[in-house]
Amino acid sequence: MTVVATSFLQDRNFIDVCYIVAFSLFIYGLIQLRGPRTAVRGNAIAAVGMAIAVAATLLTPGMGNWGLIILGVVIGTAVGIPAALRVKMTAMPQMVALFNGVGGGAVALIAWVEFRNTGGYSTEPLYVAVASLFGAIIGSISFWGSNIAFGKLQELIPGRPITLGRAQQFVNLALAVLAIGLAVAIAAGSTDEVLIIGVLLAAALLGNFVVLPIGGADMPVVISLLNAFTGLSAAATGIALNNTALIVAGMLVGASGSILTRLMAEAMNRSIPNIVAGGFGGGGAVAGAVGAGEHEGTVRSTSAADAAIQLSYARQVVIVPGYGMAVAQAQHAVRELAKELEQRGIEVKYAIHPVAGRMPGHMNVLLAEANVPYDQLKEMDDINPEFPRTDVSLVIGANDVTNPAANTNPDSPIYGMPILDVNESASVIVIKRSMNPGFAGIENELYYDPKTQMLFGDAKSAVGEITEEVKAL
Ligand code: NAP
Repeated sequence: MTVVATSFLQDRNFIDVCYIVAFSLFIYGLIQLRGPRTAVRGNAIAAVGMAIAVAATLLTPGMGNWGLIILGVVIGTAVGIPAALRVKMTAMPQMVALFNGVGGGAVALIAWVEFRNTGGYSTEPLYVAVASLFGAIIGSISFWGSNIAFGKLQELIPGRPITLGRAQQFVNLALAVLAIGLAVAIAAGSTDEVLIIGVLLAAALLGNFVVLPIGGADMPVVISLLNAFTGLSAAATGIALNNTALIVAGMLVGASGSILTRLMAEAMNRSIPNIVAGGFGGGGAVAGAVGAGEHEGTVRSTSAADAAIQLSYARQVVIVPGYGMAVAQAQHAVRELAKELEQRGIEVKYAIHPVAGRMPGHMNVLLAEANVPYDQLKEMDDINPEFPRTDVSLVIGANDVTNPAANTNPDSPIYGMPILDVNESASVIVIKRSMNPGFAGIENELYYDPKTQMLFGDAKSAVGEITEEVKAL
């Protein structure tokens, strides 16, 4: 009886059915990730799919080394679960970088192990060697590049661009040629292990040298790009190992990572080569940008009490959150203020720019944490037509995503970037600590608009003070 059950579970057809169920769940889970309402469920569904895929792989006949497999699962679980539970929302990009890097590293190591097991791929068809070597190069780049991205975001290494100067592009090209050259030698029949170690090392150096010159603030885009790379390398490993679930999962990660990278680059009005070329977002001002204090207009400042009066007499208020709200962790205070205004019959909406903050969905995540109803979160295309009939736009720690220069000044580095048209509302209140620029390092014309009033201070305390004033009215 036990033998029949075991042979059924290890039957190739049964394992294939498990894989089909697994990647159907991946795809269904991914579809659910499209909206904040269904995203948590989508994540859980995809996780169930992954559990089925892992179980099916472990059932594959010939599987051995159970001690090592169990050790790996125990270590992974012991590290992964507490890390995922403890991570702060603002540290999520580096967490993703770390997990993504581990995936790339695993792919690179599998390519090396397969090299050893198959006598330098000599017992395998050519396509297996090519797929494994592709996985070795891209996986190694992804592992090391992701580690640098993690280090920059975690401030373990400086966020500013670190470059080799003019030699940078030459060194990168030389490393790429070396990695590909050694891989070609292996595919052509060389079985010396030094060659695969050389491939892994050259790709490792390349991963470091490609990411080090990119500024810390561009890391979310880089992580998304490396995530796409890891997906492609995992798909290549799936081809080499004849594992359908790995091919499908790898392609899903590769495709979704590529789409996310392109969307982020478009929303920042930057090209992907421009981001990878580095030198932007390192904290310094951008060439040609206007530094703080160089504008010749007048800035009007206001007080929490005046802001409270304006807000209390409005019919519609649009809250525009940005990176400063995340830094100040002001989301709960913002929700309190919105509740207070709603109790007075004022309609409150939130304008969400796709690249507000420092990671995709940054504002959605923070506002969801503060229990802001999803239907009040309006995407850029939906809220922009509403600004002309908005009485007060309350900009909380957002800067670049509201800068009208993106529409009006062809010399601006952000010219062409889609923005939230807050300057079209009847009046604008901006909460930030100073006249300092945001991520792009440029001045914001909005602050000199006669309709705009600046409330200088930390977002959390300023919003708290406004709420107290509103309550006192
Ligand atoms: P931003 O342009 O970087 O401006 C944020 C503003 O918040 C700053 O001007 C700062 O001014 C203010 N601030 C900081 N700490 C504050 C605090 N404690 N209280 C109040 N204000 C505070 O932010 P954004 O408008 O959200 O735009 C995002 C930028 O990041 C865009 O340029 C985007 O391209 C880029 N980016 C986004 C992503 C993404 O995936 N979301 C990824 C990479 C890059 P003070 O110092 O004067 O307070």
